[in-house]
Amino acid sequence: MVNNKYKYKTRGSIESGGSIESGGNVKSSHETNLYDIVIIGAGVSGLSAGIYAGRFQMKTAVIDQHVGGTIVLTNDISNYPGFKQISGSELIGKFREHAKDYDVQIVKDHVEKIEKCKYGCFKIFIENGHFHTKTIIFATGTEWRKLNVPGEKEFTGRGVHYCALCDGAFYKNKIVGVVGGSDSAVKEALVLAGYAKKVYIIYRGDKIRPEPVNMKRILENKKIEIINNTNIMEIKGNELLENVFFDKPYEGTKKFKLDGLFIEIGRIPLSGLAKNLGVELNDKDEISIDKHSSTNIKGVFAAGDVTDNDFKQAITGAAEATHAAYEAYKYITGEKIICMCDNEIEKD
Ligand SMILES: Cc1cc2nc3c(=O)[nH]c(=O)nc-3n(C[C@H](O)[C@H](O)[C@H](O)COP(=O)(O)OP(=O)(O)OC[C@H]3O[C@@H](n4cnc5c(N)ncnc54)[C@H](O)[C@@H]3O)c2cc1C
Repeated sequence: MVNNKYKYKTRGSIESGGSIESGGNVKSSHETNLYDIVIIGAGVSGLSAGIYAGRFQMKTAVIDQHVGGTIVLTNDISNYPGFKQISGSELIGKFREHAKDYDVQIVKDHVEKIEKCKYGCFKIFIENGHFHTKTIIFATGTEWRKLNVPGEKEFTGRGVHYCALCDGAFYKNKIVGVVGGSDSAVKEALVLAGYAKKVYIIYRGDKIRPEPVNMKRILENKKIEIINNTNIMEIKGNELLENVFFDKPYEGTKKFKLDGLFIEIGRIPLSGLAKNLGVELNDKDEISIDKHSSTNIKGVFAAGDVTDNDFKQAITGAAEATHAAYEAYKYITGEKIICMCDNEIEKD
């Protein structure tokens, strides 16, 4: 399956089979050619797909500028089978090591555009080059949903944050708020309680909805208090955030003093590249997949948080990715694929 006849130049840094061919900020040219599979995104889903594609001996590239993805935002994973408790960075480190055991290239770059070629293959453009591939897996995950209130943008990094693990340590003995009522929001509050003297969970609904085990931890933590049925309308301060303003009084006033505010109100799927390629999305802009992780386009698969899977967890993303790699393998071994992009012709 590995094709050495037709070669293309791309740039970026590549990790392959345990060695870094070019790294850091130094960009150097390297040669690449027709890939069996290009996986976009190197979070738990992308790396899982990479491990399986590597095991199937497909010529594989995984492209991501920020290898690791969302899982590195949590230091407490207690629901990934095989690990009673592990941090996100440690878990993804293991995935990365595992992928290096196979001939999987990890390319530190960002995919900017994808074109469908004549006769069923794809051209994937990174900053300074492109790949040709027979199949694609979108494992592009999500980005933070914004609160979209006055002051949010202005105070981002100066009191407004989106990741407790990254920025929580700035709030030792301070008063912080977490906006949101999901399990992720509650876990953010638990992380912050390790630093702050007081943590308020501010939720627009009647009742927060974490996993029962995290609900118990919240209720047992004396530092954490829940404010339900309340929206933040504005964020104000001088150099740093000082107050937020609620839509209704809490303890007699709408003005509420906080040193820091962590926003965890869900995530938005990064499905734009897929949409432009003609991949079908649902009404939440998530990629629609079937039980084999296939999309509506032949040779295009998707896995993890970017899909219409309604239980977005590391293990579900890894499972979808495994399926996607297997389907891609069946697709390229079952069909003779001749790629024709522009005037460039590649043969198997
Ligand atoms: C605070 C918090 C706590 C959590 N706790 C748990 C937990 O305890 N247990 C659990 O199982 N799950 C937990 N989750 C959920 C879990 O983190 C996600 O389900 C999982 O990490 C999703 O992985 P993914 O690979 O699908 O997407 P991501 O991890 O988001 O990876 C997507 C990757 O795609 C890359 N990408 C996007 N666009 C491009 C592009 N154009 N070019 C190249 N690369 C691109 C991004 O850089 C990113 O690295 C938690 C989530 C949060 C936010």
